[in-house]
Amino acid sequence: MIPVISKLPQTGTTIFTTMSALAAEYGAINLSQGFPDYNCSEELVELVNNAMRNGHNQYAPMAGLMALREQIAIKTEKLYGAVYNPDTEVTVTAGATQAIFTAISAVIHPNDEVIMFEPAYDCYAPAIKLMGGVVKSLQLEPPDYRIPWDMVKRLITNKTRMIILNSPHNPTGTILSKHDIDELTALVKNQDIFILSDEVYEHLVFDGNIHHSMARYPELQQRSLIVASFGKTFHATGWKLGYCIAPAYLMQEFRKIHQFLVFSVNTPVQYAIAEFLKDENHYLGLPDYFQQKRDYFNKGLEQSRFKLLPCSGTYFQSVTYNAISDEKDTDFAIHLTKEIGVAAIPVSVFYRNNTDRHILRFCFAKRQETLDKAVDRLSKV
Ligand code: PMP
Ligand code: GLN
Repeated sequence: MIPVISKLPQTGTTIFTTMSALAAEYGAINLSQGFPDYNCSEELVELVNNAMRNGHNQYAPMAGLMALREQIAIKTEKLYGAVYNPDTEVTVTAGATQAIFTAISAVIHPNDEVIMFEPAYDCYAPAIKLMGGVVKSLQLEPPDYRIPWDMVKRLITNKTRMIILNSPHNPTGTILSKHDIDELTALVKNQDIFILSDEVYEHLVFDGNIHHSMARYPELQQRSLIVASFGKTFHATGWKLGYCIAPAYLMQEFRKIHQFLVFSVNTPVQYAIAEFLKDENHYLGLPDYFQQKRDYFNKGLEQSRFKLLPCSGTYFQSVTYNAISDEKDTDFAIHLTKEIGVAAIPVSVFYRNNTDRHILRFCFAKRQETLDKAVDRLSKV
């Protein structure tokens, strides 16, 4: 064997793959990896089928089908007031994951520092490291996980090149407030710092709150790469379709990488989503739809010994289990899967130093009967 010098020596298989495999092995209800257990819209499936039958089965344009880019630009302007040129400022990607990797690759050079907040979605740090960048992470504290902006300020050096934000936030379900936006705006003013804004849960904001997209705020928008995912928005995570929007000067660099990473993505799905997006009801109803699921799941869990943390967005509910066990969250998640039959994600995996606050994350994007069964089992713990 030829020795391989690992580029990511500390990295194993993602927790999502691990827990979903364990759930399958033990026949547990899978509330771990974030995906719905019901089908996406029949109309959308029909649109994909039609696109295939109509012969749209060859390469899409490198940046994405123009009809889709136009719809993305229309939706962004309607929701957040920002005008993006579909020709130069919108790129369709193979899910948000690829958009995130591409965005980081496009701007991070060796020794550039990137500020991010933990717990953090797992694909940011590896991409930063692969580019030779330095992760500067700040730990947020439950239950509110508010960003301590004075501490962020102290992290900024002349090497800080990017801040990564994720609102609504996976795994905590928190959202950025206008106060956060004001603090962020003041912080980056006159600094050469880009923002990577992971907004895959943009439509999953509850209790009458609004989504503070970077696209709403011109001072932030002009330095931001914003990523989104149709997998989340249209209950079709397996289609791996997303996009990035950014000002032309940034998108130009993004596309230099995108064209060699994937060149272009899935043509028939792009045709279908371009058509589906024309009806705004296909996404404007999502907050109510998921808020009902959150409330239903949480009402059930109130009878259990799990304690609910606040959830203002995403389709994840965090709980503590201190009244039940003092096991490590990774051990407890395995125990719950094997013995109780419900799989969850242990939140410590989203910290580089595996900070364990005895918190689990459940995905509630599930059918009512799935939630009923899960609650029934969890109430007996
Ligand atoms: N960012 C966050 C916060 C996520 O939860 C996910 C998972 N959907 C992604 C990015 C990746 O999205 P996609 O499945 O579209 O690659
Ligand atoms: N975003 C999903 C989650 O947080 C998982 C996506 C994946 O498995 N890569 O559960």
